[in-house]
Amino acid sequence: MEEKTDGQQLAEKLSFDLKTCWETAKQEDMAEIEKFAVDYKEFINKGKTEREFTAQCLNILEKKGFIDIENLILKGSKLSSGAKVYLNVKGKSVIFAILGKKPLSEGINIVGAHVDSPRIDLKTNPLYEDGGFALFDTHYYGGIKLYQWITIPLAMHGVIFTKDGERRDICIGEDENDPVFVITDLLPHLAQDQMQKKASEFFRGEDLDVLAGSKPYLDEKVKEKVKLTILNILNERYGITEEAFASAEIEFVPAGKARDIGLDRSLIGAYGHDDRSCAFTALQAVLDIVQDDVPEKTIVCYLSDKEEIGSMGNTGAESRQFENFIAFLCAKSVDTPYSDIDTRLVLGKSAMLSADVNAAFDPSFADVWDKKTASYCGKGIVLSKYTGRGGKYGGSDASAEFCWKIQNILNKNKVQWQFGNLGKVDRGGGGTIAYHIANLGVEVIDCGIPVLCMHAPFEIISKIDLWTTYRGYLAFLKDC
Ligand code: MN
Ligand code: MN
Repeated sequence: MEEKTDGQQLAEKLSFDLKTCWETAKQEDMAEIEKFAVDYKEFINKGKTEREFTAQCLNILEKKGFIDIENLILKGSKLSSGAKVYLNVKGKSVIFAILGKKPLSEGINIVGAHVDSPRIDLKTNPLYEDGGFALFDTHYYGGIKLYQWITIPLAMHGVIFTKDGERRDICIGEDENDPVFVITDLLPHLAQDQMQKKASEFFRGEDLDVLAGSKPYLDEKVKEKVKLTILNILNERYGITEEAFASAEIEFVPAGKARDIGLDRSLIGAYGHDDRSCAFTALQAVLDIVQDDVPEKTIVCYLSDKEEIGSMGNTGAESRQFENFIAFLCAKSVDTPYSDIDTRLVLGKSAMLSADVNAAFDPSFADVWDKKTASYCGKGIVLSKYTGRGGKYGGSDASAEFCWKIQNILNKNKVQWQFGNLGKVDRGGGGTIAYHIANLGVEVIDCGIPVLCMHAPFEIISKIDLWTTYRGYLAFLKDC
């Protein structure tokens, strides 16, 4: 081999230059990486909404011996090291913990992701008939490019209550024998005017109406025959009347399963990698620790709801639920009478990875990224020191001390990480649940998986980033 020049050696020593993880990973890890991707696809196929994802998590946690912390409080029981507990936040979010060997006052390690994804929600009085069709009127949820969600198969998920107050779970469109739903678009032949409009205007939120059927109910005396057919089917199947839509939570999401992408099968395409890819990897990291010994510090995983609409409400990260959970842990793990100060002390000593996806560099739209600070598919877990938009406005900015600490933990554990800032300065931006938890005094940094086509019905991630991120969360939970 040709000997490297002085300059080459110096450049290698001083520069931060990353290969892809495919080049740096050990060949013996490839089978595990593939297996992890298979498990992930299976999990997200069954958990497409915040409720479904949370239900699956609770199911696994209970199997692994986690206990409902609210029951524990009612019973007056205490917690000791090694205890495994969860808080079910209204079936839409879950917080769970393993108590460590060290007292809580030494701080806890938290990974926090979100389990809601952009989608199309039903309005409260959605069903109407026009032009021989029954249609569902909708209100979209989260920041989507509306035009991406038309003329694709959609599935209907959610809950609705009968007059007697019985809950009915709905899932139509995921089984290959199920019907699906669709939002129609104008044919190109008649789209002259539409095509002149800006992308943000040619399809309006109010136009997102979902086709529900077209068969009239056979009775001349009825005015809206197709609508009645649909109401009748819903009544026969779920025992509901039109009034039930007032309280229902029904979400239309892209129908179908996660798929491998590319001849080399290196990528995964699916609905809602944002943020179920980080939620899944965080969950797996905790489950891994369950198998091991009791961790040194207490570890907590927070899977929140409503991130895509600002984290508001009693299932979102802006609520007191997370703080309450920490207070529960404090109150139940000390022998002395609990004081509110305990919780404040613990929060101030704690560290969190805000586990959310980052916008991976897309060569088709290279202009919006600064290539030096962009994250890339295949180059590992993304560390974003800060978020925000337009002069870092609204962002959460991790301190140099904490950011360095995380870099160091990842380096020591041989977890490949990369930078990631969301685009060029003043080209847009975004946020995560980071600042809600940072506001409590916790050290927080954004850290997650690079994703292509974020918020599209079909998002893309790399299998090796999924696995690397899982290893990153594991390293942080154990070593921070
Ligand atoms: Mn997200
Ligand atoms: Mn998002």
